[in-house]
Amino acid sequence: MNTRKGIGYHENNISDPAKVVSRDTLRLQHIDQGTTDGIQRLFPVTEDEKERRDALHFSVMPYIKRCIEGENAYGGKALSLLITREERVTPSGLKILAGTTSCLKNFKFFRDKPYPLNDNTSLKEAILCSDHFQSIYTQLLCGFYQRHDVTHVKSVFASSLVSVIHFLKRHYSELCSDISSGSLSPKITDPSLRGRMIETFMQNPDPELAKFIQVTCSDENWEGIYRKIWPNIKYLDAISTGSMAQYILLLKYYTGGLPLLSTKYSASECDLGFNLNPMCDPYDVSYTIMPNMSYYEFLPLDSSHFTSSDPKPLTVEMADVEVGKEYEVVVTNFCGLYRYRIGDVLSPTRFFNSTPQFKFIRRKNVVLTIDICKLTEMELQKGIDSVSSLLGQLDIIVVEYTSYANVKDGPGHCVIYMELMVMSQANWPKPEVLEQCCQAMEGSLGQLYFSTRVSGFIGPLEIRLVENGTFEKLRDYAISKGVSFTQYKVPRCVKALDLLELLNSGVVSIHFSSSFPTSGP
Ligand code: AMP
Repeated sequence: MNTRKGIGYHENNISDPAKVVSRDTLRLQHIDQGTTDGIQRLFPVTEDEKERRDALHFSVMPYIKRCIEGENAYGGKALSLLITREERVTPSGLKILAGTTSCLKNFKFFRDKPYPLNDNTSLKEAILCSDHFQSIYTQLLCGFYQRHDVTHVKSVFASSLVSVIHFLKRHYSELCSDISSGSLSPKITDPSLRGRMIETFMQNPDPELAKFIQVTCSDENWEGIYRKIWPNIKYLDAISTGSMAQYILLLKYYTGGLPLLSTKYSASECDLGFNLNPMCDPYDVSYTIMPNMSYYEFLPLDSSHFTSSDPKPLTVEMADVEVGKEYEVVVTNFCGLYRYRIGDVLSPTRFFNSTPQFKFIRRKNVVLTIDICKLTEMELQKGIDSVSSLLGQLDIIVVEYTSYANVKDGPGHCVIYMELMVMSQANWPKPEVLEQCCQAMEGSLGQLYFSTRVSGFIGPLEIRLVENGTFEKLRDYAISKGVSFTQYKVPRCVKALDLLELLNSGVVSIHFSSSFPTSGP
């Protein structure tokens, strides 16, 4: 392929995969469903691709596991918090699976005898149960019964490791009553899951374990809760880069500072790369792109690659990317995607032999536009970081956030919906502190925001605090619309009216910046 020519891209618009590839020529196996940005897209997956992903996973993961655990592998089990979604079928009879569900259902994960990398506490039936309450509930029970065997916690995205703690907060009494009586809650109705749970774990009451969990969870202080319940945990394995960086602080709190490892960069479209230095700081992760998985091109984000004679953008080959620049990744894969823009922005940090290693920068299209000012996901995250460092002095953690461009009245302004975790109610932030947060955020949103705001084209930034659990309602709403629990990512900018209504129904207080930011970034 001549990558130097202008190209016509598919812009995430494949609605009927049968139009893109012939089922027979490609041995089409099923269709993956991606969920990023809250839009569900379908991607064809062939039999060969399935095997290729399988082979890659099982060749790279042992290397990564060795980097983590060294010569003396911990040998314990993973507390795997993995949840699958129900399959759907296209009119032509092809299965539609969420990306993570297809990994779990199709790949070696469940096919062969227990594989050392997949030795996890959860019963297969618990992972494969598509009702997420029943799945999480029973996976927690499985984890409690094997609590001394757990050496690490694993999920796809860091957000799930936070969600599961919120779930535990709400349901620990119910879980303890099951353990102490040795009888499973009637809410677990999936027959094969129920049968296997009773047969494997719930033959006898275990009042001692129940008492331990009850006492641990009824303590108001949940700092290090993961380690209190599973005392042999050495690390957490879940993606914490990009929009997941938001959860790093919270997970540090819930684990008492255990290492948080981001090992893999993948999408429903294709697997992209691995972190070959898994023990690095979560803020320093770079992924080595796997050149055998797809054909990758890189679209520079600076404008020098657009010429007047050829206004279409020119891509750069993998070997020609330059460290420090930003590129959008373009994929041609074995399943029929041709020069497809995934929408992720990456920046090379160094080379591993001649293969570049990339830092995940942001989703390309997450922008909040007010007047001429466009805020990226990264700029919003910087703003939230400045709020976090102010509130951190009061032992308060920003649990979740999203944004909205209110351009209805006056000069438009930026609205930030925020959920907080306050360790002690006495420390609940006073209105003047939240006003300072608005100002701190405005001071970190970039030069363009600063100048537009100072010249009055943007109004004062507004923070709307929402009650605890509002973002979980947002997630549950997305799941009810068909999004996979495991793949769900909080949208960092909200436009849809139904989502705004849901967020507004949880607002407990509203705060505005009371003056212009005093200094630019
Ligand atoms: P999905 O559309 O649900 O398949 O999710 C794929 C998207 O999740 C990617 O395009 C990225 O935006 C994001 N993602 C996946 N892996 C990572 C990672 N390691 N770091 C940051 N973002 C990631």
